[in-house]
Amino acid sequence: MCYFLIFFRKQAEIRSDSTSMGDNNTSPPRGTEHIATDDSFTTKPYRGLRNTGNTCFLNATIQCLGAIDKVSQMYSPTRESTKTQHRLRDCVKELQRLGTAYVPTHLIQQIPDLIRYKIGDPADAHELLIALINDVSEHVSQLFQGQMTSTIKCSRCNSTTSRTDTTQDISVHIEEDASLSLVERLHDFFHPETLEGTNAYWCDTCQKTCWVTKTLLYTRTPTILIVHLKRLILGKKIQQHVHFESILNLEPFMRPNYPPVPEMELISIISHQGTKDNGIQQ
Ligand SMILES: [Zn+2]
Repeated sequence: MCYFLIFFRKQAEIRSDSTSMGDNNTSPPRGTEHIATDDSFTTKPYRGLRNTGNTCFLNATIQCLGAIDKVSQMYSPTRESTKTQHRLRDCVKELQRLGTAYVPTHLIQQIPDLIRYKIGDPADAHELLIALINDVSEHVSQLFQGQMTSTIKCSRCNSTTSRTDTTQDISVHIEEDASLSLVERLHDFFHPETLEGTNAYWCDTCQKTCWVTKTLLYTRTPTILIVHLKRLILGKKIQQHVHFESILNLEPFMRPNYPPVPEMELISIISHQGTKDNGIQQ
């Protein structure tokens, strides 16, 4: 549970007519990317959540989800709404009232149905977050879904094969001895990787095992991007500082010839403070 989670939200809509954009922008050459305009971030009078004994991982997760308007606005239950979604919605609604700190009892009771958890024990906010967004309606969970395509290129015959997968976050490892920024780490994450030796691929064209280049790129960016900084290596928590800006440009990580994407803006973070065994998530 030694991690740092950063939530970014896709900025306003890009339209194919340049009048909706700033003076310095040119209209995108291909298509239109629609993002709901009711997703604007607004400041609300949130009340706090009470820690009932190691429940900081849940409270931090609820507060970050509650800061996403599409989540905080899911008032009306639909046929697709799940039990988890009802409880999350009730909790987020409670946070929007004035008053003393709220105890999310029903969500605490729900955690053992989502992750391996014993009431009273600490748990991992990232694991809970992914379980929560997988157990709500498609309408809500798709906010977090992006699409990445992995392309394998044979070094011998240059033939390529591609595979596209849905993503829910980007997880990057933090090393102790490298003071790279978040953007530099993302460039590393998306940098083409050479697979050779025991990692070499069988090429159907060459009919033999060849070394290949593997490239991972976005074909669709998510509305809400979760970046997970993994700080645990061989049982040790890595305290290395990782610099990041409040605006993140995903354009360098898009597959060529795909429509341009809006920048992402920082909306919230969950930080684990302390050591591997003891700490608080906020
Ligand atoms: Zn080949």
